[in-house]
Amino acid sequence: MAVLVTGGAGYIGSHTVAALLERGEEVVIVDNLQQGHKEALLGGKLYVGDLRDAAFMDSVFQENDIDAIIHFAANSLVGESMTQPGKYYHNNVYGTLCLLEKMNQHGVGKIVFSSTAATYGEPENVPIDEYDRTLPTNAYGETKLSMEKMMKWFDVAHGIKSISLRYFNAAGAHESGRIGEDHRPETHLVPIVLEAALGKRPHIAVFGDDYDTADGTCIRDYIHVSDLADAHILAVDRLRGGADSSIYNLGNGKGFSVKEVIEIARAVTGKEIPAVIQPRRSGDPAVLVASSQRARSELGWNPRRDKLEDIIESAWKWHVAHPNGYQE
Ligand code: UDP
Repeated sequence: MAVLVTGGAGYIGSHTVAALLERGEEVVIVDNLQQGHKEALLGGKLYVGDLRDAAFMDSVFQENDIDAIIHFAANSLVGESMTQPGKYYHNNVYGTLCLLEKMNQHGVGKIVFSSTAATYGEPENVPIDEYDRTLPTNAYGETKLSMEKMMKWFDVAHGIKSISLRYFNAAGAHESGRIGEDHRPETHLVPIVLEAALGKRPHIAVFGDDYDTADGTCIRDYIHVSDLADAHILAVDRLRGGADSSIYNLGNGKGFSVKEVIEIARAVTGKEIPAVIQPRRSGDPAVLVASSQRARSELGWNPRRDKLEDIIESAWKWHVAHPNGYQE
């Protein structure tokens, strides 16, 4: 039996592929390599193509004995989703529809879905739990919520079981130092701060210091990418054990402001890292911190790399060793 990882050459996908291989799973990867990197794969069987290509996906399902899918393939930039919502609906929502249709056609009944805390929007409660209101403030979060809802109805009609994992702010890099975060363009806080530490950028732009938080900058819940990878595998195990569809938050339950992240990065790297305050970025909620009580009790998830210093340290190790990312 093989696990199919869509978007497996991307940042979180490649760390999940690594974790699956470490425990001896057979892994098949589908990635269109628009964002992913072949070099990020430490093994597995890669198919380069798109979920929306029916003939291509038929061959992937026909050539492999797939029993479960971990679905990462999606566009994931909040800012871009606000200016190009069509791109997000097409790739994320329509791409997932194509995948679910193919699962149904080929008799694959288990999917773990990389969702997001952006499905909640401006939270009613901090930390957020799975029963809280979902009212996304950006098109990215809206498409991920649509994808979750689509899965629910494919369960009702066709018995496809899904576990949606809602998380924010993956950071850090694999302990081997062989894979890490390399987005083009990079928009995420931690790698941008580290690029500024490396001197690849003149400064870090802080998007808004007039939010309703202690220091005025946005608060987010940062999770080590390998802890996220572990959660996806626990979710596959749970579905293989016959569990029903469900939704879990993944987070450390502790938030850090943009200014705090920069401070910790200064301490870890020993670099000055100049910061410049700029206007708010469209679509950003002030505070996003997830309660993962449910994932801890039901999935048995226990994030082991939960100190932000350690998360940034692992990312720094990757950045220092790969100053040009995968393009050496
Ligand atoms: N951010 C920032 N400067 C940057 C990139 C991000 O101030 O160059 C802020 C952003 O506004 C948000 C937080 O850092 O409040 C985390 O943003 P990121 O894009 O890393 O993740 P997101 O929360 O959007 O998933």
